[in-house]
Amino acid sequence: MLCQPAIRSLTVLAPAKLNLFLRVVRRRSDGFHDLETVMTAINLFDTLHFESSETSEISLRVVMAQSRNSHSFPAESIPTGADNLVLRAAHLLREYAGGTAGVRMTLVKRIPSAAGMGGGSSDAAAALGGLNRFWNLARTRVELLDLAGQLGSDVGFFLGGRSTAICRGRGELVEPLELPTCLHFVIARPASGLSTPEVFRHCRPGDKQRSLSEFVDSLKGQRLDRMVRLLLNDLQSPAESLNEDVKNLRQKFDLLPVLGHQMSGSGTSYFGVCASSRHARMIAARLSASGVPWVYVARSC
Ligand code: ATP
Repeated sequence: MLCQPAIRSLTVLAPAKLNLFLRVVRRRSDGFHDLETVMTAINLFDTLHFESSETSEISLRVVMAQSRNSHSFPAESIPTGADNLVLRAAHLLREYAGGTAGVRMTLVKRIPSAAGMGGGSSDAAAALGGLNRFWNLARTRVELLDLAGQLGSDVGFFLGGRSTAICRGRGELVEPLELPTCLHFVIARPASGLSTPEVFRHCRPGDKQRSLSEFVDSLKGQRLDRMVRLLLNDLQSPAESLNEDVKNLRQKFDLLPVLGHQMSGSGTSYFGVCASSRHARMIAARLSASGVPWVYVARSC
């Protein structure tokens, strides 16, 4: 297939996510774990910019966004070479579509890495969806979802473009969920990160019996009081055993007037559910004052 750029440049946003509910159902024979998780995209974004190239080269420049928090996340923790999920996605899509066009990409990173906020997966989804349009490939959603599954368990969630979903299997089976209202969060990330495979190696499936459907009902019914009592993350306990910073954050949140709190994904980011953005800003100020290196106020839509 001839792949001509449909447009000269394009910029797409890649949102971060939080896991509001994460149950590790079982360990599978292939080494992965079956999960039941509710993920929500939030208004914290990496930006992926595409520019046409005269050659067939696919190149990527990674830029750390300048913010007062950027010092906490050294650029070297994000791979800039062939390991970067953006490059892997671009090569996979081009190989699948049989094209020869190149592209010059710039990724501006704002989502903390190794934080359980899905930054790498979201960037991969932005690359698949963005290049499908930029290269005028007209690949279907089903085809892109198949490629997403080859890149990572959470890539399909971000590709769907829905703000909230129930994800099953390794995370790749995505069922969209309509939230009747925005949720408000304050998110904290310590200076250290955690490796997802390492946390999974230390988890014990099915430790806590909690019902996904009860959690989803509370979300759909806007029962915030009930929803916060049903928050769950089976990866939190192994993460705390591997990383003191996560435990310290939990202890800090225990003393704060948030509606509920827990770690996201495999950590190390930790979030509190708040009643409003004003409430979230107030908690954020207290966390920053207590020395937490990265604090962010976010909402789910
Ligand atoms: P998840 O909840 O999906 O486990 P995470 O925040 O733990 O999310 P990331 O930090 O986004 O995961 O990615 C995990 C690893 O993937 C990183 O440690 C990094 O080495 C690698 N990686 C590859 N491409 C990227 C990218 N574009 N952005 C961030 N990390 C990337």
